[in-house]
Amino acid sequence: MRTAVRVPGHMAAVSSQGRPAAHRTPRAAGLSAYTRGDCRVLRGPELAWRPVVKRVLLASPRGFCAGVERAVETVARALELYGRPVYVRKQIVHNTHVVRDLRRRGAVFVDSEDEVPEGAVLVLSAHGVSPDVRRRSAARRLRTIDATCPLVTKVHIEARSYAAEGYTVLLVGHEEHEEVVGTRGEAPEAIRVIGTVEEAEALEVANPGRVAYVTQTTLSVDETAEIVRVLRRRFPKLHGPRREDICYATTNRQEAVKQLAAEVDVLLVIGSANSSNSNRLVEVGRAAGVESHLIDDETGIDERWLEGCETVGVTSGASAPESLVQRVCDWFHARGVTDIRPLASVVEDVFFRLPVEIRRTASSAA
Ligand code: SF4
Repeated sequence: MRTAVRVPGHMAAVSSQGRPAAHRTPRAAGLSAYTRGDCRVLRGPELAWRPVVKRVLLASPRGFCAGVERAVETVARALELYGRPVYVRKQIVHNTHVVRDLRRRGAVFVDSEDEVPEGAVLVLSAHGVSPDVRRRSAARRLRTIDATCPLVTKVHIEARSYAAEGYTVLLVGHEEHEEVVGTRGEAPEAIRVIGTVEEAEALEVANPGRVAYVTQTTLSVDETAEIVRVLRRRFPKLHGPRREDICYATTNRQEAVKQLAAEVDVLLVIGSANSSNSNRLVEVGRAAGVESHLIDDETGIDERWLEGCETVGVTSGASAPESLVQRVCDWFHARGVTDIRPLASVVEDVFFRLPVEIRRTASSAA
C-alpha cells in the first residue's frame, strides 16, 4: 500500500485556456464547454444570468477511496469473468447510485448468503463480514469473492488477536453498522461496542487491567479521540493499535472539510443516507459552524439553502462517485455560477489490488 502525501493547501483555478478561471465570464468563455479545475462545465444556453451563488469550492480529496474503488471494480470484473448473475451480500458500498448501476449490469443484491442459490458466485461487501457468514457461505458451496477493504480486515485481525490474548475488546463504533457487526463477529464473547463518551464513562468490565480497543474505520476523528481519551482515563493500562483504525480516506476527507469550512457559507455533502463517512462529513461541517446538508445528488439541493450565500462548498463521501460531483457542478453552472474550483489539502496515492479470487480467475482465463 502506498501512502497519502500531505501537500500545502492551495487554490487551483486555471481554465483550459490557461487563464485563471475566476476571471472568465460565461460570455468570455464563448458559452462553450470548458474545464475549470477538475470540473467540466455545461454549455452556455443552460446558463441563467443571475448566478445562484458567487462561487463553488470543491473539497479535495473527496469521493471514492481505494477500498470502494476495489469493491466496485470487483463486482464489475466478476460480472465479466463469471457472467450474470453475480450475487452481492448487502450493498457493496453504501451508495444508491453505485448499487443501481451495478444492478443494471447484472448484480443481484441480497441481505443474506442464505438467499443465494447453492454454487453461485457471491461477492462480500467492502464493509466486511463475520466468520459465521464465511462458514455459512462455504456450507452452501458458494464461490465467494471477498471485497472486504484491507483496512477493515486489519481491524478484524487486531480484534481477533486481542481477544485470543484474553483482553476485553472495546470496539468504538456504531452498533448497527455492517462493519461493526462483522468485526464483532470475530469474538462476540470478548467484544463490547462503545458508541459514545457516555457509554465509555459507564462501562464496567470484569478485569480493568486487561482491556484493549479497536475502532470502526469511518468514524469522526475528533469524537473518537474524545471517546479514547475517556477510555484511557478509566483504564490506564488500555491497549490499542499503534495508529487509530480510522482510515486514511476518512481522515483526509474530514480534514478537507475543516479547511473548506473556513471559506464557505454552506456545505453540500454528496452521499447516501446510510453512508457512515458521508454523515460524518456533515457533522464535521456543522461542528465547524457551517450549515451542512447531505444530498444523494443534485436533485437534493434546496435553493433556499443558498439564499444570501456567496460561496458553497461541495464534497463527497468515500462511496460517492465523481460523476455525482460533476452533476452538482453542472447544476450550479446551469444557474449562472462560473467560478467552480477545487480547494486542495492532501494528495492521495493509495491503491489496493483486486481480491485474489478475481486475479486467479482472470489469469486462468487469459
Ligand atoms: Fe477502506 Fe476506508 Fe474506504 Fe472504508 S472508507 S472502504 S476503510 S479505505
